Amino acid sequence: MSLKKIALLLFSFFVLLSCGEDKKKEIPEVTKKIKASIPEIIYEFGYKLNDYKVVKDTIKKGESFGIILDRHHVFYPKINKIAKEIKDTFDVRRVRAGKPYMILASKDSTEQAQVFIYKDNRATATIVDFRDSTITAYKYRKPIKVVEKEVAGEIFSTLSEAMDSLHLNPNLTYDVADIYAWTLDFYKLQKGDKFKLIYEEKYIDDTVFVGYGRVKAALFNHNNKDLYAYRFVADSIQKIPEYYDEEGNMLRSQFLRSPIKFQYRVSSRYNLRRKIAYYGRVKPHRGTDFAAKVGTPIMATASGTVIESARRGGNGNYVKIRHNNIYATQYLHMSKRKVKKGQYVKQGDIIGWVGMTGNTSGPHVCYRFWKYGKQVDPFKQKLPSAKPLNKSIKPRYLEFIKPLKNQLDNIEFPSKELPLIAKNNLTDAAKKYQSYKN
Ligand SMILES: [Zn+2]
Repeated sequence: MSLKKIALLLFSFFVLLSCGEDKKKEIPEVTKKIKASIPEIIYEFGYKLNDYKVVKDTIKKGESFGIILDRHHVFYPKINKIAKEIKDTFDVRRVRAGKPYMILASKDSTEQAQVFIYKDNRATATIVDFRDSTITAYKYRKPIKVVEKEVAGEIFSTLSEAMDSLHLNPNLTYDVADIYAWTLDFYKLQKGDKFKLIYEEKYIDDTVFVGYGRVKAALFNHNNKDLYAYRFVADSIQKIPEYYDEEGNMLRSQFLRSPIKFQYRVSSRYNLRRKIAYYGRVKPHRGTDFAAKVGTPIMATASGTVIESARRGGNGNYVKIRHNNIYATQYLHMSKRKVKKGQYVKQGDIIGWVGMTGNTSGPHVCYRFWKYGKQVDPFKQKLPSAKPLNKSIKPRYLEFIKPLKNQLDNIEFPSKELPLIAKNNLTDAAKKYQSYKN
């Protein structure tokens, strides 16, 4: 091939190309018109809805799986066959009035149902597919999107109230209370104490709030002291997350600070020089009284074995737990006991309920703490943490928390003028969560 010919060929090639380009430039006007007539392609539950006649409805009172399929031109021998074949995954008698469902029917003149989709709740559905001779039923779970959120708040009275004013659901309040159950006295929270959280919210369909994920990091400023908490998985085998402070000390201790979750008031502290008002004489109080409503659950502050569970004199209904050869705890004045002598209880297990049996003027639990057989003030003890962070892991932990600490420190506390506005607008999520739960 001569050079001239190649040049010519290349030239025509470029002409063709440029022609093509010119044509392309003209096309959009046309495509626009075509596009307008093409319906949007919609996928739901993994099905291309465009291929079906879609019927969305809710189960009416008295309607059954059979009645619905029959209405959509599936005949009884087949309905029975479907019900029988899927019974391990989906019991068709389980369909309940008021539940939404969807029928995908053939687009031809038969309009016969092909797929039945029963919405268990907002996140999951059961799909019964009988398009082919093989009938299948399976659970469909909508993908959950996890969104990280930040919030900062200030305590005016209680943590619950502060969280509530930020439109945060009680579930998150419980999570935070759990994280700090060993390090913070929730009854001692003061007006002006502040907190910051980095936590997760879960959504389906991008906007429907379905609950909280992890609390990744938190800061509680109590009495102008910063208490950091970072969620970290140190154990790569069991993968159980724990919360640690900025130095890697586990927040969880061998003992809870209180046998009551957090809605209580300390009405009387351990005091060896307590004066009885009327008599003017000294009668030591060797327990800590936590006043709470009758019926409030009482938790074991540490794991151990119940060594006494009885009703006796001034103690009323009480439980005593031996934790190890050093410590034991006792809980008095219960309305009802839940555990028996010899039973092993885990930290946080409910062992009874607040009452006013025995010598007491009001509902409370008198909490007594023994160390080597002697009653001591638990709040004056330096109690052991549950398990220290392994030395070989600590450097990794300190690296891990660096960005989280930075992030926490950069969250702004609500300003004085707008004390109750969170950094994120959580109102919608909270509302959606409520409606989801209902
Ligand atoms: Zn007492």
